[in-house]
Amino acid sequence: MDHFQLKNGVLHAEDVPLSAIAEAVGTPVYVYSRATLVRHARVFREGLSALDQPHLAFAVKANPNLAVLSVLQKEGYGADVVSGGELTRALAAGMAPADVVFSGVGKTHAELVQGLESGIGQFNIESEEEGYELAAIARRLGKTAACALRVNPDVDARTHEKISTGKRENKFGVPLDRAGAIYAALAAEDGLDMRGVAVHIGSQLGDLEPLESAFTKLGALIAELRAAGLSVTHADLGGGLGVPYKPGEVMPSPADYGAMVARVTSGWDVRLTFEPGRVIAGNAGILLTRVIRSKRSGNGPPFVIVDAAMNDLARPAMYGAWHDIEAVAPNGNRMTSHVVGPICETGDTFAMDREIDALAAGDLAVFRTAGAYGATMASSYNSRGFVPEVLVDGDRFAVVADRIPADAIMDAERVPDWL
Ligand SMILES: *Cc1c(COP(=O)(O)O)cnc(C)c1O
Repeated sequence: MDHFQLKNGVLHAEDVPLSAIAEAVGTPVYVYSRATLVRHARVFREGLSALDQPHLAFAVKANPNLAVLSVLQKEGYGADVVSGGELTRALAAGMAPADVVFSGVGKTHAELVQGLESGIGQFNIESEEEGYELAAIARRLGKTAACALRVNPDVDARTHEKISTGKRENKFGVPLDRAGAIYAALAAEDGLDMRGVAVHIGSQLGDLEPLESAFTKLGALIAELRAAGLSVTHADLGGGLGVPYKPGEVMPSPADYGAMVARVTSGWDVRLTFEPGRVIAGNAGILLTRVIRSKRSGNGPPFVIVDAAMNDLARPAMYGAWHDIEAVAPNGNRMTSHVVGPICETGDTFAMDREIDALAAGDLAVFRTAGAYGATMASSYNSRGFVPEVLVDGDRFAVVADRIPADAIMDAERVPDWL
């Protein structure tokens, strides 16, 4: 459930008409609903209520906006970060260092130092090599790094191949059959406190079965490690729960997910961490756009050209993803059209042959489910600026990220004087 609903014929974010935001801030603009973020954060937590004190770490890469992180911090969420930049954001949003988990297959030396000096709660180690490097840095700094070993369970998450992370051929984690030996080797290193194991098999998962299969393998690994005399007090089950993008699409609920987790992890005797991203933020945001003009296309449906493009919302171009398109002030008529952005790429296409609300030049429309992997994936391709972001709370709203115009990006460029 979200708080983007029609009221008196106009689509609102909570109690604010989207037309008012377009007027005040311009388009395109991302709009987030605080009430929806809070609701999703609580529904996810309630889904895990059978577990003892789970640690919830929002996957910052899904939506790193400081205001969004602050909303989740107030809901008791920590952060799962995958770069030094994300770590800086999580701390700036008020998250306690101890509540931060640092994931990522290519943490640099500087990022490992930053994590140690910040006193983060856990490093998810993705290779033996990374473990030795972190141990050496920790010894030099006189610190101990709390670590989980990320394993690659070799399961097919049955999602888009570009967001599948738990197959043997994917770059993430260490192979399950080597995990015991690597864990033992790293546990013997001064500077490391090997305290657990981690998995994350992919994103936008519509099926609990691959997750259950990965968790079952993790449980067997925990037993194997303990049998070898190693200590395991923590397990990180990652993120990945999918959200509905299309009307009628049904995804496993946080309650179903939580019940499965409770069943599979019963008897593990560890503290569990979860790293939800999309399921918290996806349906808490929309991308608001204005129609530039419509263009006839031979005998086919017209092209509706909007002012948002693939640089603002990359998912359709990257993954062939579907985003629902709705008029902000629907007049009741429907039309079949292609919906495209202005960028000079055929990939800059949001929908082909889609039945949508009738839209004409100047009309406002939204792309739904744009709160996760939306603004954060933006680029300035075609010398377009970065889209602003707005957070709505009841009948008030605030710009929580300024528009960065194309000339501000150009200002960071130099022509050398020898040219
Ligand atoms: C991306 C990512 C997540 C979040 O995935 P969602 O599908 O958005 O829940 C969690 N953990 C790790 C390690 C990730 O890379």
